[in-house]
Amino acid sequence: MVTIEEALKIIQDQSVNLKTENRHLENCLGFSLSENITAPFDMPSFDNSAMDGYALCGIHSEYKIVGEVAAGDMSEIELKEGEAVRIFTGAKVPGKTTAVIMQEKVSIHGDKLLLETEPKEGQCIRRKGEELKEGQLVFEKGYSITPAGIGLIGSLGIEKVEVFKKPVINLITTGNELIQPGKPKAVGQIFESNSYALTAACENFGFHCKDKKQIADDFEPIKSGVIESLETADVLILSGGISVGDYDFVKQALEENGVEEQFYKVFQKPGKPLYFGKKGDKFVFALPGNPASSLSCFYVYVLPFLYQLSGSDKNGLERYSFPISHDFENRGDRPSFLKAKISNSKVEILNGQGSSMIQSMALGNALAFIDAETSVKKGDPIECLLIS
Ligand code: AMP
Ligand code: MG
Repeated sequence: MVTIEEALKIIQDQSVNLKTENRHLENCLGFSLSENITAPFDMPSFDNSAMDGYALCGIHSEYKIVGEVAAGDMSEIELKEGEAVRIFTGAKVPGKTTAVIMQEKVSIHGDKLLLETEPKEGQCIRRKGEELKEGQLVFEKGYSITPAGIGLIGSLGIEKVEVFKKPVINLITTGNELIQPGKPKAVGQIFESNSYALTAACENFGFHCKDKKQIADDFEPIKSGVIESLETADVLILSGGISVGDYDFVKQALEENGVEEQFYKVFQKPGKPLYFGKKGDKFVFALPGNPASSLSCFYVYVLPFLYQLSGSDKNGLERYSFPISHDFENRGDRPSFLKAKISNSKVEILNGQGSSMIQSMALGNALAFIDAETSVKKGDPIECLLIS
């Protein structure tokens, strides 16, 4: 048995082989850059107007209108003192422009432009290089690409980026009692839900489960299922059958397939019978079958490792401390990840903390960490992992 910190350290200390690929801007959301990106040019690359209005030369209250520049125009007009041109947002400002005035603040009489107040030098002009200078570091290697990141990469004229490949994840659920939702359920059976929850949890963070198998509690089928799934996976996630019951064959099946245990059992609640193993450059998490335990273990242990395998600068769920909205006593003898809800910047520990109980997790938005045999008072700060 290892502590939570030891388990996380063992996972974090794995050396992983990161592979890279070249991806088009359209398909790189959530991938992590495998190299730095620097600005190939100043941004903006020319002084341009921030408004629809008039570009002015000199500080006056009256100007002579001498022309027009629209966004995209290539003209190389140069203004003389007291001259103005009609200009539109994004258009290159003519040479010798002192300021741009928005059209709402002027009146026009023939070719005369009259201002209510004199302009301030430089107003409404977006200066060349004011956002980024050529050669400036824009993104560091490991940056996890967001929609705004895609916008910026595109505006730098970059069509394809080098990113780390994401791990191939395969999933095996085990259990004689499991039946797929939608099928008629006999007495003693339960609906198989972990594969759906775990797949969705992967998708939620930009990862994808490729192959999914459901296998009964029989040693040989589990063993051959593991062989087959490991062939194509970087990470194999199993659910169920990793406890100490007579029908729990997962650990033995992994051992007989040459998977080396990195840890088995973590001193925590829920999710004590958590297993982490390795075979070559492939990794295996065997999660307990109880729905809340399996998802909790995914969030705390699997997700950080998926980020690690994808070269990301993220290391798991966001962690924040919030004051608890009520007194609470963790009577359990193990440190606990409790299903919780954060609202109005306060955290509430929800009813329904059983390992099998997923409703509280479905209605909550966080896992609150409280140490074993610990009493907390209303207002005490509680460390929370944000699950949504
Ligand atoms: P196990 O870890 O196999 O001992 O399973 C612990 C509990 O979780 C049992 O009550 C199982 O019926 C339940 N369980 C196991 N696998 C699943 C699954 N895929 N979906 C829903 N419940 C499951
Ligand atoms: Mg089972």
